Amino acid sequence: MPNLMNLFDNPCFECGACCQHFRVSFYHGEVASDFYPEGVPPEMVTRLDANKVCMKGTEKGSSPCVALTHAPSTGYRCSIYVQRSSTCREFNTHFSNGQVNPDCQRLRIARGLKELDPIL
Ligand code: SF4
Ligand code: SF4
Repeated sequence: MPNLMNLFDNPCFECGACCQHFRVSFYHGEVASDFYPEGVPPEMVTRLDANKVCMKGTEKGSSPCVALTHAPSTGYRCSIYVQRSSTCREFNTHFSNGQVNPDCQRLRIARGLKELDPIL
């Protein structure tokens, strides 16, 4: 039987806030096509202008991305994790120097979640 505590070792699994807060926009070239099948599924994006799209659901902000899933046993997960955009890949709990991302921390505090510590 899986240890439920271990399922939440990743702080994002109990949170999911960034996927429900920002407009998640990126260059349209990241959308999957015949030439780039590993890109973001086209049915999950909204065209913003000639160059940009955003994840459906996030057009106005403060609303969940269409790719975000939640279940009590697994928490929040991205259903297109390996295909997610550069915008999603670049927003993390910590920076490469180990310091906490303050935008992530702010969102966690607003949800009443535990503050994250730097990785030393
Ligand atoms: S706000 Fe931070 S902890 Fe929450 S899901 Fe996003 S990166 Fe993870
Ligand atoms: S594509 Fe995945 S990581 Fe990106 S905002 Fe949506 S649920 Fe979050």
